[in-house]
Amino acid sequence: MMRRPVRLKPDATCICVSALANVLVFAKVLVFAAVASGFSRIGAAQTASPSGDLDPRIVKLVASISEERLGTILKKLESFGTRSTLSSADSPTSGIGAARQWILDEMKSYSPTLQVSFDTHQVAPQGRITRPVELRNVMAILPGRSPRRVYISGHYDTVARPGGQGATNASGPADPDTPPARPADPNAPLDNLAPGVNDDGSGTALTIELARVFSQSGIDFDATLVFMCHAGEEQGLVGARLHAQKAVAEKIPIEAVFNNDIVGNDKGGNSIIDGASIRVYSEGPEDSPSRALARFIQRWGGRYVPSHRVRPMARPDRFGRGGDHSAYTQLGYTAVGFRESRENFTRQHDVRDTFEGISLPYLAQNARVNAASAATLALAPPPPAVVNDRGQPMISRAPSGYDANLRWSPSPGAVAYRIFWREAWGPDWQRDLLVGNVTNTILSNMQIDDFVFGVAAVDAAGHESFVSAYVTPPRANPPIR
Ligand SMILES: [Zn+2]
Repeated sequence: MMRRPVRLKPDATCICVSALANVLVFAKVLVFAAVASGFSRIGAAQTASPSGDLDPRIVKLVASISEERLGTILKKLESFGTRSTLSSADSPTSGIGAARQWILDEMKSYSPTLQVSFDTHQVAPQGRITRPVELRNVMAILPGRSPRRVYISGHYDTVARPGGQGATNASGPADPDTPPARPADPNAPLDNLAPGVNDDGSGTALTIELARVFSQSGIDFDATLVFMCHAGEEQGLVGARLHAQKAVAEKIPIEAVFNNDIVGNDKGGNSIIDGASIRVYSEGPEDSPSRALARFIQRWGGRYVPSHRVRPMARPDRFGRGGDHSAYTQLGYTAVGFRESRENFTRQHDVRDTFEGISLPYLAQNARVNAASAATLALAPPPPAVVNDRGQPMISRAPSGYDANLRWSPSPGAVAYRIFWREAWGPDWQRDLLVGNVTNTILSNMQIDDFVFGVAAVDAAGHESFVSAYVTPPRANPPIR
């Protein structure tokens, strides 16, 4: 269905919708009433998309993802033998030093507009870091018109242990306080074979390939895109945590992090095959920005890549497993973790994590979902703020006492806003409604206690931000004297 933004008269700041008894026909009637009472449609020239909801530039970008290139990158990553953060850094052909230099040079070759650099940190021995190491994330920045950032990431470091993840899973829940086994010589480089083609060569190859297609697309994105290959993930998300801490200290506006870790295998270790879906994990609670990002990926990934099913998971990650997105959510950033639908644990953290365990068509589909949703997000205006400066949601029952009165702050670049709602039981938005360039909408006789509401910002070409939801703030609990 073609949906074009509608715009109010310039002086109008509020849409007041007359009482509508039937919620089920609400959306259609409202749009009709709004147009009839003074809305005007924006000109056809302002809508970029002859294919309806899809932007042909994003369609082209998604189509330019190459299975062959993903395969070439994976074979190169495998060739380093190990990419352990604790491995040798001085060999030109093996270990993490050679790997990170190759990733840096590869991304540099894509476009002069990509700013590729090492994000370097000195890390002291602690936890699974057995000796002082210089840790280097490899990052490529594609500057946008605004400083707000959208990250696409994976971790290029690897690990292999006797028995791998299969043995870890079979031995039951691990005690997180158990100190790691000490190597015989903690100062010796950890150079045992750890190919890590799926964990997380797959997320790394996806990130590198998206750096190529985004930087060569010629699209002028509003958001700055960052293609980030983290290190130190296997020692406790160390590279991601250090980068996120630096971003907080430098007040870098990271709007969203798409983390990909183990996204290239479609054959479960239990023989169940699923090459047609991807899981997206996000930290709660239910209307947290990270959950909103997961819903956004389901909505926009599903439109551009309808043959691939996005399965949002309402939990931070898999049981007892972690990923770099959590390093960002812990510091208040919005982030999700993509995970293949059917894992083969016997290959993970094991010498068997080789190229043979990869399905390139599956990895490419996951790359397309990432690309479509990240491109939409980076072209869209930032999500509108729905809380005031005191952090209170700008929602009320005015004027009748029985209405849903929604207010938000204008989002730069928005020409319209899309209101979403659902019954206050259930995870997915059920209804949406495009309103004009306003910062207030009243939905008559919609009890705010019965629905969850949210607002997304929409630009002239129909690119949508993710949804800012109106959330009940936690109740104060002062001590009783
Ligand atoms: Zn991993």
